[in-house]
Amino acid sequence: MTISREIQPLPLDEAPIRKALEDAHLPSLLPALAQITGDLSLLRDDLVPETVLLTDPQGGLSAEAQAKARELALQTLVAWRDAGSVVAPPPSMTDVRRMMDYLIGEHVSDEYLPLLLEELAFADKDARAPEWNKDAINADRSMRVLIIGAGMSGILAAHRLQQAGIPYVVVEKNADVGGTWFENTYPGARVDSSNHAYSYSFMQKFDWPYHHSPQEVLLEYFSDCATEFGIRDNIRFNTEVESVTYDEGRAVWAVKVRGPEGDETLEAEAVVSAVGQLNRPKMPNIAGVGAFEGPAFHSAQWDHSIDFAGKTVGVIGTGSSASQFIPHLSDMAGEVRIFQRTPNWYAPAPNYHERVSEGFLWLATHVPTYAQWYRFWLFWAISDGFLPMVEVDDDWQPGDEVTGKLNGELRDLLAGSMRNYLESRPDLIEKTLPDFPPASKRIVVDNGTWPKTLLKEHVHLITEPIERVTPRGLLTEDGEEHELDVLVYGTGFQASKFLTPMKVVGRGGADMHEQWDGDARAYLGITMPNFPNFFFLYGPNTNIVVNGSIVYFSECEVQYVLECLKFLLESGQQAIDCRTDVHDAYNERIDAGNLKRAWGVSSVPSWYKSDSGRVAQNWPFTLLEYWQQTKTMDPADYVLL
Ligand code: NAP
Repeated sequence: MTISREIQPLPLDEAPIRKALEDAHLPSLLPALAQITGDLSLLRDDLVPETVLLTDPQGGLSAEAQAKARELALQTLVAWRDAGSVVAPPPSMTDVRRMMDYLIGEHVSDEYLPLLLEELAFADKDARAPEWNKDAINADRSMRVLIIGAGMSGILAAHRLQQAGIPYVVVEKNADVGGTWFENTYPGARVDSSNHAYSYSFMQKFDWPYHHSPQEVLLEYFSDCATEFGIRDNIRFNTEVESVTYDEGRAVWAVKVRGPEGDETLEAEAVVSAVGQLNRPKMPNIAGVGAFEGPAFHSAQWDHSIDFAGKTVGVIGTGSSASQFIPHLSDMAGEVRIFQRTPNWYAPAPNYHERVSEGFLWLATHVPTYAQWYRFWLFWAISDGFLPMVEVDDDWQPGDEVTGKLNGELRDLLAGSMRNYLESRPDLIEKTLPDFPPASKRIVVDNGTWPKTLLKEHVHLITEPIERVTPRGLLTEDGEEHELDVLVYGTGFQASKFLTPMKVVGRGGADMHEQWDGDARAYLGITMPNFPNFFFLYGPNTNIVVNGSIVYFSECEVQYVLECLKFLLESGQQAIDCRTDVHDAYNERIDAGNLKRAWGVSSVPSWYKSDSGRVAQNWPFTLLEYWQQTKTMDPADYVLL
């Protein structure tokens, strides 16, 4: 089991405590100490952080203030240990608020307080767990739920249904759980949000080895969650859903699956799609794809049998996946030719490849609530405060390199960082600096590895457009044929083709894909008209760009789905079908919101948009707003069947 939330006793020797404090994240440590001792005077005015910025973890505290804070922490921990290491009773709301205010250096708005308390999940309290049980509400009612997919969202949905006593089955096309972390095994795959935030709020792990753990650590985490939740026996592996059809007369979904034992039809009163957005590899629309005679594969289907030593490897694409595996390829291969169609913005994350320091780890596993306060700090640092940086000002004009003043400041920061790295190669600066606003497409996370890779002599960045794939390599429009030994497609996923290739037929024979007509929409990203009791997780317009972790969204979505099921049980209704007017009004607001964001107005290609150019993926508003909208279900939004 890799999910350790155990707290070790403090040692009698002061030396290891003092040593660990050298690596302490002080803005998180002092509230933790205030909480375990109940002594809020520790949150001294002279030790209040000035900022919450990922790039300035100690919040602008001077060296002198940091030394004082460490000394204070040492004295406090020693005294607490000597008094028996008894954790003070849970703090009052006023006290929690003071601790939060201290940590972020300003007053937390009232509206955020309940959300933040849930996220903090102190004392292992799972504030989002359903406090009801199906049988207690209606033991006779048949309420079987079929979940499609056992990735991060599917595991979560299964866990919550189990907590509520609702029978469910999970159908998973792969041989094990983990979804994206099961499939993407390319070298260098790691989570580009901090894993202290990219984890379930109620299943926080105190001993993450890295700030951004590699794929195998994330896979292990989700796999252990599935085991700990006790849901594995309800998962049918190596089984793929082919079609889902609603039987209106019986208010039941017939789900045709293909598994190791052949085809079968399962029945359920409700279906939860947890298939993810970045699930089906996308091959580029370049002439001759398939013509290359050497080994060729997509990044999500990495061919681990290949020995790259001495080989010339071509890579199409420079998105988040390619930016992670190309540096590793450059260590293994004789030559790497990178074919870039559109450049990216790179966000500096200094700790991207770093192990969590020994001292941090020690404190996280010896000081109760320290890890939770650090998660809170991260949550705040990456959350709603970032949205203004991607806002479109009223005087924005198509073609502008920034969408507004703050977006311009972001641009300067990112461009400055790239220029510094590539100072010696103006040609690379020219090729890599985008002429479009940051956040028009996904900003790639990096710690300088990308520009350093480009500077290697055997790595070539080619921006000449590809004309076609040939048996020997890639022909670019300037007439040059780039001969390759191996070709890797880092060309992303069919993100806007939600639920492809499944066929889903709802009320009155409505076909989900036809209804969407290439442009997926849903109410809250979760339900859509004509598909009663059919729920999406990570559905249309629930991807976040700059603020937060996608696990947070899944937790909100699952909470809403559970509210819907509870309503069905309590009301005795057979099904709920989203009202068209509610759905349409909601989507109008989403579209208007996205048009006020960099990714909405920009014309650069990105997986955020469907073929029509509409942003079908992204949520344009705050984390708080999504939480508020999904906290409860309003029956008035639905046709009751
Ligand atoms: P992506 O961001 O969609 O990048 C695809 C790349 O392929 C782009 O550079 C794109 O160029 C290029 N491409 C596509 N079709 C092409 C064509 N016909 N000709 C030339 N180039 C073409 O895909 P991804 O890198 O797999 O990342 C997808 C998303 O997965 C990320 O944005 C992120 O959300 C997620 N991800 C997360 C992590 C993580 O957290 N660890 C890691 C990897 C991926 P254009 O820019 O011109 O379209």
